[in-house]
Amino acid sequence: MRARRRRGAKEQQYRELDVSMLKLSLPHTVLKRGIEFTVQQTNGANAEAGKSWLCPVCVISIEPGLNHTVAWDTHRGVESRRHFHNHCFKIFDGLLP
Ligand SMILES: [Zn+2]
Repeated sequence: MRARRRRGAKEQQYRELDVSMLKLSLPHTVLKRGIEFTVQQTNGANAEAGKSWLCPVCVISIEPGLNHTVAWDTHRGVESRRHFHNHCFKIFDGLLP
């Protein structure tokens, strides 16, 4: 019972996150080596407490509340999204490790 409720809450959080990201900035697309990425800015404010992300470019964590870039391969879909420092996404060559 408890576990089921918690899982429901989590799904709701993911939806809320997406909506707030839409409000923050409209997604746009960027080509990196012919791969189309959908890109959004986020301030990370809706992250779960204690959540941080590992930037795939510099491999340094992005702390909650830091304005950063979320990007995903448009064809692979939003599930493949990664979080980047803004400057790291600019130099990102389109190849995820
Ligand atoms: Zn970085």
